[in-house]
Amino acid sequence: MFRRLLLTCCLCLAFELRAQAPRQVAAPQPLPSSEGAAFVVKAGRLIDPETGSSAVNQMISVKDGRIIEIGPAVAIPQGAETIDLSGYSVLPGLVDAHNHLALTYKKVPENDFYYFTYVQESTALRAIEAASNGMQMLSAGFTVVRDLGNNGLYADSALRQAIEQGWIPGPTLINSGIIIGGYGGQFTPTPEMAKDHNILYPEYLTADTRDEIIKAVRQNVLFGAKVIKICVDCKPYPYSVDDMKLFIHEAANAGGLKVAGHVQTPEGARRAIEAGIWSIEHDDGLNDELNKLMAQKGIWRAGTETPTDYWGTPADFERTVAGMKSAWKYGVQMAFSTDADYYVPGMSRGQLVIDFLKSWKAAGIPDKDILKVMTINGYKICDIYGNRGPLKPGFPADMIAVKGNPLQDIDALRSVAFVMKDGLVFKRDGVMTPERFLHGGPINGWKIH
Ligand SMILES: [Zn+2]
Repeated sequence: MFRRLLLTCCLCLAFELRAQAPRQVAAPQPLPSSEGAAFVVKAGRLIDPETGSSAVNQMISVKDGRIIEIGPAVAIPQGAETIDLSGYSVLPGLVDAHNHLALTYKKVPENDFYYFTYVQESTALRAIEAASNGMQMLSAGFTVVRDLGNNGLYADSALRQAIEQGWIPGPTLINSGIIIGGYGGQFTPTPEMAKDHNILYPEYLTADTRDEIIKAVRQNVLFGAKVIKICVDCKPYPYSVDDMKLFIHEAANAGGLKVAGHVQTPEGARRAIEAGIWSIEHDDGLNDELNKLMAQKGIWRAGTETPTDYWGTPADFERTVAGMKSAWKYGVQMAFSTDADYYVPGMSRGQLVIDFLKSWKAAGIPDKDILKVMTINGYKICDIYGNRGPLKPGFPADMIAVKGNPLQDIDALRSVAFVMKDGLVFKRDGVMTPERFLHGGPINGWKIH
């Protein structure tokens, strides 16, 4: 969102690495934190967002955090608790492909200007806020969040580690660490603050030269990033196509990470596309021609399309919706994404995020396709599709339940009654029940970084 507050630009990207091939990830092991937990979920309607189909009266058996079997009748694991969701639709968890869990700017005191949030709040405080935001997202049915920077000094990595080690419940996080950009990042500091006090860091990691680009990627990887986020065109000295190819090459070299580019100009988007970036964040720089190019090259769009309730004028929203329609028409790979990083009084982070359905509905995209975007496309842009997300035997048991049928009425997702994450019940009958997730130590292992 703050991208709208600080408009300037840059450009960047890297290699013709369509060689950003899917990462090979080992099958998840049973989680000690879920050990011994066994359930049989009775689903009145089981939804497959991939095909847009559903089946009535299905059962899902779950043990030690993983799905064992799915069908009209399943073997009951020993000691399994039955969860009766026969009055509900059961489906895989939702994905927000662009959020900032460790940033919440507010009207008071910072007048919605995140620069002051960064000055006033420690990384420690922001990490605790992130833990709360993560639970709010999970309660709204979002079992996966791509968390793209502005998280202080790696509060995002700390949150991911805490969730994965087994301290607290939260979504599966694909986090970027610090946003990498040309000098200044997205800030416009005074000369004295920038030079003598280095106020840019840790909100931004400056990388102006090729050596600095390599070092910045490696720093983020070392401190827990699972995706690399760059400012493509935040300043008048944007990244070149070659710069971005270097980012892509270096990220690929570091375990196959992908590069997400904040883009706000058509020139930036064009260079990012030419370099072969994994995803373009925000819709500001995109147009019909670029949508066609993105579709041709299979580049992801995380458009962060904000309803007028939270940003802009009706004319801005018209432009947003027209952009979505164009991307949809040309077959761009689209992800549900919000850029949520602000407080709306009376709303949780999850309620704010799900309200972005307004934009998708306004674009006239069919409900079953919106559901696919929010699930299957989300797992794909997060590059976890091969090991988490879909409801399949062997996969971690992440699922939600709602009244009604979201294939026909996507607004059914606004009221999530049940959430299971890693085979544990986080929410039941509309009430959060996190006790089973809380442990006095890193029960999944302290070596998760
Ligand atoms: Zn953002």
